[in-house]
Amino acid sequence: MDWSTFTFDHFLQRAGHGIEFEIFRYLLGTMSTFVIIWLGLSHLLRYRKIRKPTPRARQIRSELFWSAMTVLVFVGMDIIIFDAAELGIFQKYDDVAKYGWVWFFVSIPVMIIAHDTWFYWAHRFMHLPRFYKLFHMRHHRSHNPTPFTAYSFAPLEAVVEYAFVPVGLMLIPIHNTAFYIVMMVMIFKNATAHCGYELMPKSWARLPMLGWLTSVTHHDMHHERASGNYGFYFTWWDRWMGTEHKNYLERFETAGDWARKADAKLAAGPALVPAE
Ligand SMILES: [Zn+2]
Ligand SMILES: [Zn+2]
Repeated sequence: MDWSTFTFDHFLQRAGHGIEFEIFRYLLGTMSTFVIIWLGLSHLLRYRKIRKPTPRARQIRSELFWSAMTVLVFVGMDIIIFDAAELGIFQKYDDVAKYGWVWFFVSIPVMIIAHDTWFYWAHRFMHLPRFYKLFHMRHHRSHNPTPFTAYSFAPLEAVVEYAFVPVGLMLIPIHNTAFYIVMMVMIFKNATAHCGYELMPKSWARLPMLGWLTSVTHHDMHHERASGNYGFYFTWWDRWMGTEHKNYLERFETAGDWARKADAKLAAGPALVPAE
């Protein structure tokens, strides 16, 4: 490797690209979730709103501040990661012909499954009492999450979350475009997991295979109780390790019932008070 290329200009160029990519990814995922679900579909989804209270603007402001910190951490790591790519330690490649189209498409779920495994165990590690405060408490300050909770991490947690990227790239050969797709799936899954509205139909969680996918309720319960339901994409690690909340399926199916009951009560009118 030619170390003479590592100039300040080179660093600024890398930082510029990293900031563009990370801000674009973050804003696209969180803003589109916010605009589509919170602003566009909130009325249609009102009977699937998981919690009655809506988080306050103050919470969102704090989430945006910590998300900006996370973007900076990710950019710093991107600079190191992309420099490391020049050392040839990653299996990322440009030419589809190297592994073929079948692997191009298979590598996407393989990377997602690997990330889910990383997330589950890193998440459990960060919930250990000795690490919780330093790594993960910031994320749980959002007791009732919003799409912007997605990146609301303490800097140390941001490092742990993003460390999957270099590890995954070392272990799994993946085409540049497939990797980009995985990164976009990651932010959309993250933003929707915190959106506060259950997006799947009631029958979903009991379906074979599809029930392995985590729902919004799954992660919402994790924020509500700050324990259990540690998985990101899939429910299987929680089920294998016995960490899924016992009433998850029931909560999934009844998500938003409070709003339906409140509307029914309103439609029935005020209870008659017997005249004295
Ligand atoms: Zn969360
Ligand atoms: Zn947690």
